[in-house]
Amino acid sequence: MRHVEKRWKELRGYIHIVGAFLVFLLLCLSVFFGAVRKSIEKNVRQTITANIDRQSTAFSSNITIQYQYLEGFAGYLGEIGELRSEDTMTLMRQVCEKSGLERIAIIDPDGTAHYSSGEVKNVAERDYFQQAMKGARCLSDPLESSVDGETRVILSVPVYHDGEVAGVLGGSYDVGALSHMLFEDLYGGTGYSLIVTADGEIVAYDGSEEYRKIQPEDNVFSYYAQMTFLQGDTFEHMRDDFANRQSGSVKMRRENDVRYLSYAPIDINDWTMCYIVPEKTAEAPYRMITQYEGGLMGMVLLGMAVLLAGVFRMMTRRQKELEQAAQVDALTGILNKRSTETAIDRWLQEAHQKKQVFIMLDVDKFKEINDQYGHATGDAALRLVGKTLVRFFREDDIIGRIGGDEFVVLMKQVNSIRDAELKAEALCALFRSLHPEGCPAEVHLSCSIGLAEVPEHGSSYMELYQSADRALYEAKRGGRNRWVRRTAADTEEKMEGEAF
Ligand code: GH3
Ligand code: MG
Repeated sequence: MRHVEKRWKELRGYIHIVGAFLVFLLLCLSVFFGAVRKSIEKNVRQTITANIDRQSTAFSSNITIQYQYLEGFAGYLGEIGELRSEDTMTLMRQVCEKSGLERIAIIDPDGTAHYSSGEVKNVAERDYFQQAMKGARCLSDPLESSVDGETRVILSVPVYHDGEVAGVLGGSYDVGALSHMLFEDLYGGTGYSLIVTADGEIVAYDGSEEYRKIQPEDNVFSYYAQMTFLQGDTFEHMRDDFANRQSGSVKMRRENDVRYLSYAPIDINDWTMCYIVPEKTAEAPYRMITQYEGGLMGMVLLGMAVLLAGVFRMMTRRQKELEQAAQVDALTGILNKRSTETAIDRWLQEAHQKKQVFIMLDVDKFKEINDQYGHATGDAALRLVGKTLVRFFREDDIIGRIGGDEFVVLMKQVNSIRDAELKAEALCALFRSLHPEGCPAEVHLSCSIGLAEVPEHGSSYMELYQSADRALYEAKRGGRNRWVRRTAADTEEKMEGEAF
C-alpha cells in the first residue's frame, strides 16, 4: 500500500511540474506579446511624430514664402516712399493675383486699410496691425472678415521708409487655402491633419471628412474630451502639453474606432499641429508580426494540447496500473486477499440461480520446499500454483491468494455440489503432477482442499472462509492430498475424497 501511495505521490509530482511549466510558458508568452505590442506602439508613435515634424516644416516654409511675397512688395513700397498711388494699387492687385493671397491691404499708420478690392476699413484695433507697426511679421488667428463675413487669417509685415515703419502691408488667406498647405496624408487618406490654436480652435485642416469626422467649427478640446484615452494617456495630459507647447502622442478610442493622435507646436503664433490616424492603418505595416504571433500562439496551444493529452494518457494508464497493482498479488498475479474478499462478497450479494462453492486450498508441506530448495524455488512453486488454478477453473471464477501458500476459489454457478467435489478431486490429482522448477525431478506438489457451499455454510466470504478452513484443517489431519466438505454446519458428518 505504501508502494502505491509513493507512486501516486510521484505522479502528482509530474502533474505539478507539467502544470508549472505550462504556467511559466504562458507567462513568458504574455510578457513577449506585451513587449511586441509596446514596441509596435512605440514605432507607430515615432512614425506619426516624424510625419508631423515634416508637416510642420512644410507648413512653416509655405508661410515664410507668403511673408517673402509681402515683404518684397513692402520693400518696393518703402523704397518709392509712396504707399498709395494709382500705380501701387494696380501693382497690389497684380501681386494678389500672382500670390496665393486672396486680398492685400495697404494700411496707413492710423489703421486705415486700403484693400486691393477697393474697400477701405479701419483695423487699428487688430493685433496683426499693431504687431506689424512694431516691426514684427504677424499671422493672425482665423478672423471673421467685417468686409464679407468670411473667416480668414491675415499675414502682415511692416513697410519701412527711411528706417521707420511707415505703414503695414497685410494679405489675407481664407482658411481653406491655408489648409491646402498641409500635404497629403501618408496613410492612404485615412489620417488627417489639423492646425489648432491654444484654445483648441481649428485654424486649418485636411483629410477626407469620412475619416476626419471633426468639423472645422468644432473645438478640438471639447471634441477629443469625449474619447476614451488608452495606454495611460489622458486628455488632461494632452491639454497640458498644448498649453506648455510640448509635443506628444496619445491613443484614444470612441466605440470601436481607435486612433493615434500626434501633436507638435509649430513656430507660428500659439498654434499646434495635430495628426490623427486610425490604429488599424497606422499598425498595418506591423500586421505580419501579429499574424506571426497568432501562428506562434496557435502552435504553442497545439503543443500544450498534445502535451496535456500525453500527460492525461500517461496518468490514466498509470492510474489503471496502480489500481490493478492494489488488487493483485505481486507474486502470482492473481487477486490478493483483500480484493478476493471484496470480489466474492460482491458476487454473493447478487441473486444467483445455481450453486456457488467456496474452495480453500493449502499446499502440503510447503515449508519443506522452502527449507530444502530455497525461498526462490518456493516462490516459483507458488507462481506455478497460481497459474495452474487460473488454467484449471473457469475464466469468471474468482481466484485469489489469501496468504503464504493458501489460495481461495469461488466456483460460480455450479450445477451441483457433486460437480465441485469432482473438481476438487481432479485438482488434488493435478497437483500431484506439478513439478516446481528448481526441485529434483521426483519432487511433486500436493494440496489439501476444504469446501464450503452457499447457503449451507454461509452467504459471505467470512462465513464461507471459516467453514472451508475447518474442512481444510480436517483434510490436513486426514493425511493431506485430499478434499473435505462438511455436510452441515459443525456436524461431524463429512464428505471427503483423496487423490491418488
Ligand atoms: P501444511 O501441509 O500443514 O500446510 O504444511 P506447510 O509446510 O505448507 O505449512 P503452512 O501451510 O502452515 O506454511 C506455509 C509456508 O509458506 C509458511 C511460509 O514459510 C511459506 N511462505 C509463506 N509465504 C511465502 C512466499 O511468499 N514465498 C515462499 N517461498 N514461501 C512462503
Ligand atoms: Mg501448507
